[in-house]
Amino acid sequence: MKKLFISFLSQCVVAGAAYAHSVPERPQVVSVNDMLGSVGWGFDTPVKTEKLGEGFYVLFGVGGNIAVSSGPDGVLVVDDQFPEMWPSLWKAMELQGDSGIDFVINTHWHFDHADGNQALGQKDNTWIVSQANSRAMMLDDHVINLVGAAVAQPAYPEHALPSITFDTAMQFHLNGEKIDLLHAGPAHTTGDTAVIFRGRNAVHLGDVYNNSGYPFIDAGNGGSLDGVIAFCESVLAELDETSTVIPGHGPVATYADLASYVAMLKDIRKEMVALIKEGKSLDEIIQAGVTSPWDEKMGNPAQFINRSYTSLTTNYLP
Ligand SMILES: [Zn+2]
Repeated sequence: MKKLFISFLSQCVVAGAAYAHSVPERPQVVSVNDMLGSVGWGFDTPVKTEKLGEGFYVLFGVGGNIAVSSGPDGVLVVDDQFPEMWPSLWKAMELQGDSGIDFVINTHWHFDHADGNQALGQKDNTWIVSQANSRAMMLDDHVINLVGAAVAQPAYPEHALPSITFDTAMQFHLNGEKIDLLHAGPAHTTGDTAVIFRGRNAVHLGDVYNNSGYPFIDAGNGGSLDGVIAFCESVLAELDETSTVIPGHGPVATYADLASYVAMLKDIRKEMVALIKEGKSLDEIIQAGVTSPWDEKMGNPAQFINRSYTSLTTNYLP
């Protein structure tokens, strides 16, 4: 609660500056399929498997990375991409000796991580689990402003909804290890979950950690730059320097990678807040090059700056 209050105060300080800041306009709304086509995501993409240990691996396909834990007690997966990917994902899992799923944990409600619920939720004996806010978001239609386009994500049918939810923490005791689910407040969305495999010394952070470029922050639906930083710091405190970090997108990473990502976000936040307090507009902040030391590695910062600016100048905290 204290952390949330401090975060709320810091947002008010910025939002309460002497200058008015307009929220950037929302672009045209498109369907998920149109959006996938525009970024070249095709469901014929081959699934890649990276084995991290016996009965523990990551599946890369189209959408968010999937972590799989399997053993004598059953199979637990984190995130499930799209229904169209499941024929290929099942084949990849069968190569690892796995033919069913007992638990699916959604790191959050975005389509590229949770649309697969629509395939898995129709299977017998598969329980879908999420943080309570993510389930709430899946009950209704929403628009996700990606800046270049805005995507309409429709409400999920009953069978694709999580039937088990939690607020701040939950534990599984499965396959000889404890698996902690943590929610550390609004970050990438309002319903993010970090899944910490204690026996594996590994975490799946969903889109709170993007290892394929600057993070997307769903500022239009309650996400914030401050929240992403605070969430990552809470997770780092649960890890050690030898921990494996599975991002929402991009290759499997390390504790040091996550720590440097947080340091980058804090540096950029500091620069942006200073400029916002000077009354600079979004365009002026983009022109100021607040991300320039990292652009060569991380790519085009326009979306990230837009969503960060929106979250720093508007109090979206629920
Ligand atoms: Zn996401």
